[in-house]
Amino acid sequence: MTSSSSKTFERAQELRRLLNKANHAYHVLNSPFMEDAIYDKLYRELIDLEKEEPNLISPDSPTLRIGGSPSKGFTNVKHRIPLFSLDNAFNFKELDQWYLKLLKLINQTKQPKDSISNLQIICELKIDGSALALSYENGFLVRAATRGDGVEGEDITSNVKTIQSIPLSLNLPNPPKWVEVRGEAFIPNKTFEKINQERRTREEPLLANPRNACAGTLRQLDPKIVASRKLDFFAYALHLPDDWQPNSNDREKPKNQWEGLEWLKHAGFKVNTNAKYFLNISNVKSFLSHWEIERHNLSYGTDGIVLKINEFEIQQLLGWTQKAPRWAIALKHPAEEAPTKLLKLACQVGRTGVVTPVAEFEPILLAGTSVSRATLHNAKRLESLDLHLEDTIVIRKAGEIIPEVVRVLSELRKPNSKRLCLPASCPECGSTLIQEIDGAATRCINRNCPAIIRGSILHWVSKSAMDIEGLGTKLIKQLIEKNLIQSIASLYSLNAEVIESLERMGNKSAQKLINAIATSKTKPWWRQLYGLGILHIGEANAKTLAKKFPTASKLSQAACESPEAIKETYGIGDEITESLNNWFSDDENQKLLSNLKKSGLSLEDYTEESIDQNKTLCYGKTFVLTGTMPSLTRNEAKELIENSGGHVSSSISSKTSFLVAGLNTGNKLEKAKQLGIKIIEEEELKKLLSL
Ligand code: NAD
Repeated sequence: MTSSSSKTFERAQELRRLLNKANHAYHVLNSPFMEDAIYDKLYRELIDLEKEEPNLISPDSPTLRIGGSPSKGFTNVKHRIPLFSLDNAFNFKELDQWYLKLLKLINQTKQPKDSISNLQIICELKIDGSALALSYENGFLVRAATRGDGVEGEDITSNVKTIQSIPLSLNLPNPPKWVEVRGEAFIPNKTFEKINQERRTREEPLLANPRNACAGTLRQLDPKIVASRKLDFFAYALHLPDDWQPNSNDREKPKNQWEGLEWLKHAGFKVNTNAKYFLNISNVKSFLSHWEIERHNLSYGTDGIVLKINEFEIQQLLGWTQKAPRWAIALKHPAEEAPTKLLKLACQVGRTGVVTPVAEFEPILLAGTSVSRATLHNAKRLESLDLHLEDTIVIRKAGEIIPEVVRVLSELRKPNSKRLCLPASCPECGSTLIQEIDGAATRCINRNCPAIIRGSILHWVSKSAMDIEGLGTKLIKQLIEKNLIQSIASLYSLNAEVIESLERMGNKSAQKLINAIATSKTKPWWRQLYGLGILHIGEANAKTLAKKFPTASKLSQAACESPEAIKETYGIGDEITESLNNWFSDDENQKLLSNLKKSGLSLEDYTEESIDQNKTLCYGKTFVLTGTMPSLTRNEAKELIENSGGHVSSSISSKTSFLVAGLNTGNKLEKAKQLGIKIIEEEELKKLLSL
């Protein structure tokens, strides 16, 4: 055996073991230990392996079996007509392949001149419940059985008789000597929720989903319990004796699925009204997309759509595989969870030094996007997951939520595989990591760690803080690597030439970035406070604190000398007070504040008393802007002036203090000259703004 085929053999064996175990838990014990989507993915993997190497197929393969064996406690009954499962398609491509294969099979049986190019299809909702086989004799319900292994099921007649929507006798004047009806029993969502609510109150384990709840209920030994659960039933298939011929006053014998559904309705069954008839496959897809969303508004669970070839004659021609009819297929709704192979444990160091473990795995398609990384949150979570290299892990991505590792299928673990844990030292700077005593966080406490500097700069320039556009992760990385910046303060000593020398930076974009950095100097104090990235100081807390302590020095003094004053602030508790105390008592942070001040940031609110000499020149003054300025855009200039306490007006009047004139000025310049208004250029404006 080659090493690759021995690997395949081992994997097939592993999958078989796990899937058989899952099948038993699901079908016999009604207590699944994995999600359906995960089961389906692993099942598909086994089918692919068996297709690749057919000699891998063993008699115990779950790919050959329907459901589970009948359980003890009920009498077993042999079905008059076997109950099959359904093959699955997971996307439109697989659906097209199925349709084309059927056309090919049918046309193989025909002369070329009679070949067909379309097949009528009935689409039905795939109800998430339990299949039932109902046997009627001379019009009366004589037996109801579970699907079991498809050949034999359990006789649950007395339980099924409690389901109000199942007729005990058929509404037919001349019923055939026997009728076999197939359909799905289900628990309506509301009843399911109620059952679980009651179980919660009694502190009993909750039922996993409506399908297993339904299957479990049908197997209750006490029919009173079954009656209390208010099960419901949709009929979807009908079998009549071949030799039965309706009388003239009877409904015609159905020749296809659509007529079969009508016949069932007529006989007194509840048939799902959302079934639809299609002339061919081309319009089926919009039906599927519609139900993918609309199913959430139904009062019962569905897990996909079933497509059935309409004509019974063609169904007979196509036949059945060992497990499922060829003429039907289920398209399951897309999974938001899937299994994949864990390739590596990576670590991310954030701006506060917190180390987040990240799982890197073989890419999978989830909720429509490809995913190859997912957070493991923290060391505690990593430990509880007990991850080993090459483990099969389950990833979840629901809606917009960031992908996460939900759990590990440890049954599929390779022997002697390496257990994964966080490293002892920082992956970015190599310093020893600290594990917080109470919290789950693991931290790098080296303030010169490139990851921490990078993170703190990214936070400072972010939209909610300084809003410096054009300074992304890649550029910051370059600046740090070239030692051009060491902290947020050093951003303000950069110049356009330095930026221009970096990869993918031109003259214009460099100048734009320098302007954005300069503009940020006049951002309000609360944004600066938020931008410092102090633990627990989000936007809301920064605003509250900046209002009460309008300068950095006042906040610093309170944090270090009178924390009670901070604690008295509305919404600020012990944790934040402690965090502020820690931050402002740190010499390095005080150095950072003084460097920011030296770079021209006020670190305070622009009140009359706090505005220095240069800014007084702007404060309360009215500016009019005209023409194109060499580096600042109109909006940037306006923001700078307003943040320094000045006003910007669109028209010249005797109240205008300054006209800022660039190139290509219009008649505002003439008017300003006539009124004797002071005319300045961008350079002078920058001086007034102390830039
Ligand atoms: P299935 O649920 O994929 O499809 C067949 C069943 O669909 C039928 O037996 C019938 O009961 C039902 N059905 C609902 N509406 C129908 C309609 N309109 N027409 C025809 N049939 C309709 O197959 P299955 O064999 O019952 O179960 C296999 C599935 O069960 C797997 O694909 C998996 O999702 C789940 N499963 C999960 C686990 C687990 O551990 N989570 C284990 C085993 C099986």
